Amino acid sequence: MPILRVALNVPLDTMFDYAVDEASNKDVGLRVYVPFGQKKLTGVIMAVCSGTTIPPDKLKSALCIFREIPPLSDELLALFSFCSNYYHHPLGMVVMNSMPVKLRNNKPVSLKAEVKKIQFALTEVGRKMDVSLIPARNTVMHRLFAILKNKQSINTQEARKISQRAVNVLNDWMKKGWIDAVHEAGSTMEEPVMPRMTSEQSIAVDAITAKFDQFNTWVLHGVTGSGKTEVYLRLIARVLSEGKQALVLIPEISLTPQLESVFRKRFAAAQIVSLHSGLNDTERLSGWLKSQQGKARVILGTRLAVFTPLPNLGLIIVDEEQDSSFKQQDGLRYSARDLAIFRAKQRHIPVVLGSATPSLETYYSVLNGRYHCLRLKNRAVSNAVLPQVECIDMRSEKPVNGLSAPLIKAIKACLAHRRQSLIFINRRGYAPVLICPSCGWAAVCQRCSSRLVVHLQDKKLSCHHCGHREPFPYACPQCGEQDMAPLGRGTQRVEEALTTQFPSARILRIDRDSTSRKNAWRKILHAIHQQEVDILIGTQLLAKGHDFPNLALVGILGSDISLYSTDFRAGERLFTQLMQVAGRAGRAEIPGRVLIQTDFPDHPLYQAIQQHDYDALAKTILVERKIAGFPPYVYQALLRAEAHSLQKVLDFLEAACKLAQSSADVEIFDPVPAHMVRLRGMERAHLLVQSGSRKKLQAFLTQWFQQINTLTSFNVRWVLDVDPVEF
Ligand code: ADP
Ligand code: ZN
Ligand code: ZN
Repeated sequence: MPILRVALNVPLDTMFDYAVDEASNKDVGLRVYVPFGQKKLTGVIMAVCSGTTIPPDKLKSALCIFREIPPLSDELLALFSFCSNYYHHPLGMVVMNSMPVKLRNNKPVSLKAEVKKIQFALTEVGRKMDVSLIPARNTVMHRLFAILKNKQSINTQEARKISQRAVNVLNDWMKKGWIDAVHEAGSTMEEPVMPRMTSEQSIAVDAITAKFDQFNTWVLHGVTGSGKTEVYLRLIARVLSEGKQALVLIPEISLTPQLESVFRKRFAAAQIVSLHSGLNDTERLSGWLKSQQGKARVILGTRLAVFTPLPNLGLIIVDEEQDSSFKQQDGLRYSARDLAIFRAKQRHIPVVLGSATPSLETYYSVLNGRYHCLRLKNRAVSNAVLPQVECIDMRSEKPVNGLSAPLIKAIKACLAHRRQSLIFINRRGYAPVLICPSCGWAAVCQRCSSRLVVHLQDKKLSCHHCGHREPFPYACPQCGEQDMAPLGRGTQRVEEALTTQFPSARILRIDRDSTSRKNAWRKILHAIHQQEVDILIGTQLLAKGHDFPNLALVGILGSDISLYSTDFRAGERLFTQLMQVAGRAGRAEIPGRVLIQTDFPDHPLYQAIQQHDYDALAKTILVERKIAGFPPYVYQALLRAEAHSLQKVLDFLEAACKLAQSSADVEIFDPVPAHMVRLRGMERAHLLVQSGSRKKLQAFLTQWFQQINTLTSFNVRWVLDVDPVEF
């Protein structure tokens, strides 16, 4: 009797065996319905074996194998295995979490609803078809053709209303290549307008297409407005012409609808699906199935889309590759960017990482030759130049509610010229650190050079990296200043201040709340484009990738917090964020101006931004990271744990630390409370391990993971976070 080895969505790092009457290797990758304890669950068949170690009286039988859709491919299963091994997460959970909810339900999915929805549109060939070839008396054909020409697309349901025969005609035309299936929304059949590529764009496209049939990681490093999208479009066109599929990964909270419409306009005849968190279960299933069937040709999605089955995958693009949303922050903590590279390698195809400010990990890989870099140094639209960036030295200003005189003056000028301004308030990763207001000295841990966090209650400074604690200094050890204070308050009142300063201006605040509602973004963008807004206020990464043609001024407040953050990546993130925000200004004919309010105008980061010099800053930071022993020079993993009491968590981590096999290759730090100790009622702490070798770290983690699994008496929730980006 064959035995099925099944992956189930349960937090146990093992597969489960079930007996079945009949099965063969062809069934690997199919879903199967099985009894599990008191429950019944749906899992995926990972292997069909001839024997099992389960005693016959304990062995249960599978209830049913679902065969209504094809099995997951070996390639996809290999991706899951890699993912499970690398992130040390149970394979069953990896497999099941990647699948649409409807495929995890304990019943087969109904596919009928799908068929009706397919829209057909004329292809290039179809549009040029000679109408006189259609027999005059075949009114069905003529009517169909007229509809396709005018209304641009038709679905089978609509066709049936014309005549039962119409569906046959559509099938026939489909075979002849006159029509093709398109997305429900239909598409315009106008010739897409293609701009002439700039020479930088052509060089990039040529370089990548010349090596289309092999694996390479390309970094498309282009300043904001340099036209990276056009490069993607040309590459995708090439993929489509070869009959293959393209996967385009984009950050969360961003631009799916905008990008989707750009893609639809350009690839009217191709079926495009978008897979993002805003979809309901049916929509997600539909997109997933179309991808698996190979019908969907362009898949536009956020991080989860990296697990989509794509039998004809020919190209992967990761836009804004540095974006932290590509890293999942709970459960399976995978990096969609890194998995995208794995998939490309697996398939021998190119992967393109696009960014104006590549992550330092990526940049480092360019420097050491593992990735190939293509630069777009100029803006694509002729005449559009990069904005002028200036620092306002706040040490010599007397700000009114956080606003300096030069900034107020600049906003006034914008209002007078009926141009828009954007005030960007940085609040990210706020943890109070101690800074000398006179000389800029910052309290740093002697043991690990991480910045110390202020704990006002007990007047202590503590290191959230290695656990070291020390008392407050009385005065600045560098210059003797006695007025030492935690940095980073004072931007809260800005919105009020702006309203008071400019009572007649139309002010719009954009934050996570105001953009989370459905269609919120569309309305906001509409208002901005219709000039219904004078001053925009944004507290988080605002409108990356959008064109605001009338935006002339960007004011930046509170960015100093990030310079002195306890998170070693804060500087890199600030730079990215400021480059992106600055990139909003001066995109069209209007020259842009960026004003940064800061106490530290000479800081290398601000110097680099003023020069638009990514490389200078990246190299500076890399030197710092090398000295301090931070990534990309080391590989890290965090053991994260949480429970209702912090002591319990720390005890658990202590125990895990004792179990760890210490070696010269892997450094193990002490347990420390997390950056945000309390989250959703749980107390959190973590333990950092790192190594100069990814391989050695992995070997260590594999063994350690097994050992931690034996610590069941502590009753804490824990997870390994490999390549963590947040602490
Ligand atoms: P990025 O993503 O690199 O910041 P975009 O792709 O958004 O830049 O392009 C910026 C602007 O330049 C867009 O309005 C786009 O239509 C335009 N553009 C891109 N390529 C060209 C080109 N070759 N000729 C003219 N305009 C272009
Ligand atoms: Zn000082
Ligand atoms: Zn330390």
